[in-house]
This record gives sequence, structure tokens and C-alpha cells, in this order.
Amino acid sequence: MRTRAEKATYQRAWRLRNTERVKSYESLYKSKRNPEERKLVGRNNYSNLRLSTLLAYGHKCVCCGETEAAFLTIDHIHNDGAEERRRIHGSSRASSPKFYRMLRNQGWPRDRYQLLCYNCNCAKAHGGCPHQRLAVA
Ligand SMILES: [Zn+2]
Ligand SMILES: [Zn+2]
Repeated sequence: MRTRAEKATYQRAWRLRNTERVKSYESLYKSKRNPEERKLVGRNNYSNLRLSTLLAYGHKCVCCGETEAAFLTIDHIHNDGAEERRRIHGSSRASSPKFYRMLRNQGWPRDRYQLLCYNCNCAKAHGGCPHQRLAVA
């Protein structure tokens, strides 16, 4: 059985330990926040890069004239996008900072790339955008 004094000492020690634990959580949180902030900066750089790419290509879908940045995507005029993405960064995943940087380094070549919105881009990949068929008809 503990005496009252022993209990008080134990509780004080427990509180002290918990203060330490709270502090260590705080420092853990802070140390985790910094990489988060760095990631945020990375994202900002990425969206800047993407925006300058969109602007360089007219910030407009060449097919339907869509200007909403969220819908716009770089289209490979010769439909070699998947193959090229595999060559650049080992996967056929959609646009990456690497891809945008490559475009910027090449001075935004317009002979091979153009802007399309996702709708027109998908439609083109599946046999041609209806916008173009309507224009022809
Ligand atoms: Zn479009
Ligand atoms: Zn279209």
C-alpha cells in the first residue's frame, strides 16, 4: 500500500512524464509539418509550371475552346504520349512535373504538342472528338 505522500509523488511524476509525452508529440508534429510545408511548396511549383505550360500553349482547348485550366491537358498530336511518358519516367501515367519541365526545356514545342480539354483528349483517343466530326459533317 502506498502512503498518501508516495501517491502524490507518483502522480506528480506521472504528470511530468505526460508533459514530456505531450511535448514530444508536439515536436513530432512540428517535425512532420515541415516536410508537409515543403511538399506544399513543391505543389505550388508544380502548379506554376503547369500554368506556364498552359499559357505557353494558349490556355485553350484547340478543339472546343475550353479555357478552364482544370480541364486542360497536354495532348500529343501524334498520339505517342503513353510511349513517350514510359520513355521519360518509366510509366505511362499522366502528366508529371518531369514532363512539364521537359516541355519547358524544349521551349514548348508546338509541332508535337497541343492543348486539349480532357473531354476532347479522351474522345480523340477513342477514334476522334465529336466536335471535329460535327465540324466536318
Ligand atoms: Zn475540348
Ligand atoms: Zn472536342
